[in-house]
Parts: sequence; C-alpha cells; structure tokens
Amino acid sequence: MDGTWTAVREAGPDGPTPSPLEASRERVVKVSIVASKSELTQLCEEMEEQASAFESAPAGLIVAWAAERFGPKLAMAASFQDAVLIDIAVNVDPTIEVVFLDTGSHFPETLEYVETIRARYDLNLTVTKPAPGAEQWPCGTAQCCEFRKVRPLKQALAGKEAWVTGLKRVDAPTRRDAPIVSYDENWGMVKVNPLATWTEQDVAGYGADHGIPQHPLLSRGYLSIGCAPTTRPVQIGEGPRSGRWSDSDKVECGLHV
Ligand code: SF4
Repeated sequence: MDGTWTAVREAGPDGPTPSPLEASRERVVKVSIVASKSELTQLCEEMEEQASAFESAPAGLIVAWAAERFGPKLAMAASFQDAVLIDIAVNVDPTIEVVFLDTGSHFPETLEYVETIRARYDLNLTVTKPAPGAEQWPCGTAQCCEFRKVRPLKQALAGKEAWVTGLKRVDAPTRRDAPIVSYDENWGMVKVNPLATWTEQDVAGYGADHGIPQHPLLSRGYLSIGCAPTTRPVQIGEGPRSGRWSDSDKVECGLHV
C-alpha cells in the first residue's frame, strides 16, 4: 500500500445487476490505500466483517484493533468538544496522531480547551490551518467548511490509511446508519467510529467516571460545539446539535458525508 491514487474502472453495462454495495464499489472512485479493484473489494469485505463484529464492542477494543491493523498510518480527528475519545485512544496508543482543525473561527474557549487537553495527555497533536482562499467564502457556506475543514484534514491525513472519528449515530439523521468501521470512498481511507453506538449520556458518563475536563462552554448550554459564528447554546427541549447551523438547513460540514 503505497498511497498511490488509482482510478477504479466503471462497471460494464452487460454484467449481472450489482447489489447496491457492489454498485457503490463499481463507481469510478479514487482510492489511496489500494492498488486494484480486487484489493478494494477485499478491503471493503474485511471492514464489513469487522463492523459487524464490533457492533457491541468497547470503544477501546475498536481503537486497539485499528492501531494494530494500521500502525502509524492511523490518525484521529478530534473536534475537542470533549476529550472522551482522546482519553480512550491515548490509553491504547499514547503516540497516536490527533488532528485538530483550527478553522480560524473557533471560540476562544475551544482553543483554551485544546491546550488543556494537549497538556493533560502530552498529545501528539497536529493543528491545521485553513487552506489558501478560505477568506473568500462567508461563514456558513459549503465552501467555508471545504476550505477550513475538509481540505486541511485531507492534507493532514495524506499518507494515512485510516482515521478515527468521534462520530455518533445519535448526532444526526445523516449519521443514523454510520458503521463502526468502513472503507470511506470519499476519503479513500478506512474510517473508524469507535463511539458510533454511544449516546450523549454515555459520553457524559465516561467523562465523569474518568475525571476528564469538560469544554468550558458545556455548562453554558453549548451541547455541540463547532465554529463560533454557527454555534449557539441549546434551549431546553432541543436536540444536542440543534445549536449548530441553526439558521440554515445545514447539518454536516463535509467531513462525514
Ligand atoms: S462551521 Fe461555519 S465557520 Fe466553521 S468552517 Fe464551517 S461554515 Fe465555516
């Protein structure tokens, strides 16, 4: 696996009707960690088997598998809304690379929290900056997230084969079916979501049990924390992510679609 980008050919029109899963593999995709279509199929099948096996596995076990399977070609993206997954991951591998996307629009409290957590765990932390041209796009547009999140993360993950994320199925309807492990065609990498089956209560309980510092804005009603211009506190009765992009129909920033 040499990180070469390889185009996978399109399915022929005369073959048997593929299943949706097969069809998705047949599309022209760019893959970074496989050199042929058969390797891609093999990798997808391996990840599907792992996903089933991990459905009720502890998050630490999932991270341990990923660390063993991908070694130094594994990294983790962290929003620093909380540090639960960081705590789990560094217990498995204290050297795991953690990537924080500094969009240039974070709350000062988030940047303080990053430093608190960096010091607590002596993190192997990579902090990205927005891609050139980001300033052309107003906050809230898809391009803003593309330049401040998606492109910097792709650059930070170059050469990696897998990334760990804190995505949870309860976060949004778009994440309802998120697998614990999968090959992500958009990113050309394996994506590992150890907290996919967790609830907000699970996260809070783990944080309290392990004495993990909380984000300073949590106690002020910010239950999901992104960039400052597009995040507001949540009102009683609202869902945890209802304070994100609340004046638009946007629910994802492009990292998980
Ligand atoms: S969350 Fe808002 S401010 Fe942050 S990158 Fe996306 S659009 Fe820009």
